[in-house]
Amino acid sequence: MPDKISCGALRAGDAGKTVELAGWVNRRRDHGGLIFVDLRDREGVTQVVFDPQNAAFAEAEHLRNEDVLRIAGTVRRRPGGTEYRYLDLRRSRMQSNLRVRHQIIKALRDFFDSRGFLEIETPMMIKSTPEGARDYLVPSRLHPGAFYALPQSPQMLKQILMISGFGRYMQIARCMRDEDLRADRQPEFTQLDVELAFCTQEEVLETMESAMRYVWKQVMETDLPPFPRLSHHDAIARYGLDKPDMRFGLELADVGAAFAQSEFAVFRGALDAGGAVVGLRYPGGAALSRRDFDALTEIAKQFGAKGMVWISLGPDGIKSPASKFLNDENVAAVSAALDAENGDALLLFAGERALAYAVAGKMRNEIGDRCDLRDPQRFAFAWVTDFPYLEIDEETGVPAPAHHPFTAPAPGDWDLIDRSPLEMRAQHYDLVLNGYELGSGSIRIHKPAEQRKIFEMLGLTPEQIEERFGFFVRALEYGAPPHGGMALGIDRIAMLACGEASIREVIAFPKNQLGRDLMMDAPSAVPEQLLRDLHVRLAPEARSPE
Ligand code: ASP
Repeated sequence: MPDKISCGALRAGDAGKTVELAGWVNRRRDHGGLIFVDLRDREGVTQVVFDPQNAAFAEAEHLRNEDVLRIAGTVRRRPGGTEYRYLDLRRSRMQSNLRVRHQIIKALRDFFDSRGFLEIETPMMIKSTPEGARDYLVPSRLHPGAFYALPQSPQMLKQILMISGFGRYMQIARCMRDEDLRADRQPEFTQLDVELAFCTQEEVLETMESAMRYVWKQVMETDLPPFPRLSHHDAIARYGLDKPDMRFGLELADVGAAFAQSEFAVFRGALDAGGAVVGLRYPGGAALSRRDFDALTEIAKQFGAKGMVWISLGPDGIKSPASKFLNDENVAAVSAALDAENGDALLLFAGERALAYAVAGKMRNEIGDRCDLRDPQRFAFAWVTDFPYLEIDEETGVPAPAHHPFTAPAPGDWDLIDRSPLEMRAQHYDLVLNGYELGSGSIRIHKPAEQRKIFEMLGLTPEQIEERFGFFVRALEYGAPPHGGMALGIDRIAMLACGEASIREVIAFPKNQLGRDLMMDAPSAVPEQLLRDLHVRLAPEARSPE
């Protein structure tokens, strides 16, 4: 029999116990998939969570305020990050993180001011600016059926400021993108947004690099060395990812040539189909057991691999599930390509070229973690340049700009636009820190005919160009200076500067993984009358049962 207790009695130490509570429904919230009930008695309030696996879920759907409830269940601590935020913010770590964030922003403002940049605010309610995500929309009361979009970035507006003659713009800008969340992504975030007129790519890179050097000096009293530069092609060939963690080596190698004659079906299939066999060294990996390698193979599968072939260079010789197909020569060739020694393991990923590199790149980070090569106190910045103009969108399979459609193609690549657009490169650069993309930028198109041409390449009809970007193309017609710029994620910069693993730790009031603010209970339903004023009617599945 579960213990009967009051609604004010549970403590963290009770986690795991089965208890019975009785009381009145103080409040019920339906969080899409989970139902939360605050159950009240004279001693206090306890939050009860119903998930759909729960037999009582269906009944919980019909609960109303002040219903009487008796319920048994297991006591659980709130999952990390859903505690009440004001208590969380009192911790010295959060106090210090938010202070560092403030210092970073102040240093950035000082730096850009000293270089003649003006901070200019741009509106929050605008027309859609494509940055590859979904827009958040705001219905207009005065214009029935019309919506503002919240900015995914101030991109077109800062370009218009260049056309307007401001020359050098910066802004600590809020951006909103409705996309799936991760530890380094929130639905709203803060960018250092920068734009310069009459600039070269080199000037943008120099400006942003100096800004980072200034911030690190002011805030962390650290002198950063010059940032290494890699082309996108080299970043992939050496590290498998376009945001390489440069704190450690372990470079990948294309080891397909070592298996040119191999009869091993996994390699044969990949090579015959024009794919690749990509190798990665695991320092000290020969100490792993077969079971450890099986577990590592599972991780490779989560990264998208079909499988992983391992070769262990242990003291009692070579071990590998593919040993039948290996000989001294090809093992020696792979070892040489990866600079491997006795005691290491070699990990091989075979398949379609881009996928094999991507999986090997993710595994490289995993091995970096396991070998303690990713010291959070070290800061390894890098520039990645010369991106392809288009990349295939993972979800839709359709080519889309790797950056955004305002980016200028590489000089000399314009003639590829009709023949072979996927080969076109862009004047697009990313700044990377410790394996995170801090931000992207580009030299922009400043001629209206060229801007139209890019929209056409992306499949927009003249009507769509007019409807979505007419104002912008017309602005370009009024004499636009050559210009370029960049934006860097302040949240990520602060996260890395503070040695945190999630941007939630450097944002005072972040959203949770489902995009909710649990403290304020947002988003939440609004009174019917407000919706009527906004000319909005909810679809039946969106209506609250209350
Ligand atoms: N608007 C771009 C972004 O948000 C940055 C830029 O191109 O300046 O990524």
